[in-house]
Amino acid sequence: MTVRVGITGAAGRMGRMLAQAIADSGAPAVLTAAIERPESTLLGADVGELLGGEASGVVISSDLSAVADQIDVLIDFTVPEASLAQAAICAERGLPMVVGTTGFSAEQTRALATATAGMPLCQAPNFAPGVNLTFKLVEAAAKAFGDSVDIEIVEAHHRHKIDAPSGTALSLGEVVAKALGRDLSQAAVFGREGPIGARGRDTIGFSTIRAGDIVGDHTIIFASEGERLEITHRASSRMAFARGAVQAACWLVGQSIGRYDMQDVLADKESIT
Ligand code: NAD
Repeated sequence: MTVRVGITGAAGRMGRMLAQAIADSGAPAVLTAAIERPESTLLGADVGELLGGEASGVVISSDLSAVADQIDVLIDFTVPEASLAQAAICAERGLPMVVGTTGFSAEQTRALATATAGMPLCQAPNFAPGVNLTFKLVEAAAKAFGDSVDIEIVEAHHRHKIDAPSGTALSLGEVVAKALGRDLSQAAVFGREGPIGARGRDTIGFSTIRAGDIVGDHTIIFASEGERLEITHRASSRMAFARGAVQAACWLVGQSIGRYDMQDVLADKESIT
């Protein structure tokens, strides 16, 4: 079955990568709609030409409602405000939606959950398969070490990233906190400066690096006296996120109403890779 995919944020870093991943996917996915913000200078541009290839016949437009009947699933990598607006349009039509956008406030997270309650939604802070394996490794390490180690999460991204710490770092923190029975909102320490005193063992530290063109690095440190274990994932290309998101989109079309994440996609052996 061919899955007709729409992308919001089509001219962005991830949007272009998604269009390339769909073009490379051959059979399972085909791009049928590309949406950008109304002020974008790229409205009317052909997506194939934007990628440096031949015209594809899919031009960038700004109104998802106008093209919603041409897609089976929407992939959204934009900003939280835009994701919420697109979610409302998908909800009206029961259209499945894959959300890769990060940086939602607690209020926006609740609004997204409410808006998408009646449709299939797959949301993940990171669609790279390796990161999703990292979640499992980190959970196992946290459970094995228990409260015997200090746990720090260090993430690095490119200079244009607008939210910090990354959604992936926060999710890693949630995994650690859950494994250790801690409340992340109480345990998290975001950066340190000045005479802060000794570290509490029950805290989970976050450090953020923003520099150059780093695609996305995450390291989780489990440190005690005399040794430390570090689990690191490094993304070297956005293609890892894009392929995962396209895989999630193809999988989501066959699912019933509900909320899913990339772990659900990867756990399903029927999922197309
Ligand atoms: P980007 O700034 O390059 O692209 C975002 C695009 O969204 C821009 O082209 C912008 O014009 C467009 N946009 C903004 N408002 C819009 C609207 N109302 N309608 C349609 N388009 C709109 O950013 P990026 O690097 O592509 O990242 C986008 C998001 O994806 C960020 O939140 C980032 O953290 C997240 N991200 C997630 C993953 C993952 O695997 N989940 C991976 C990489 C990035």
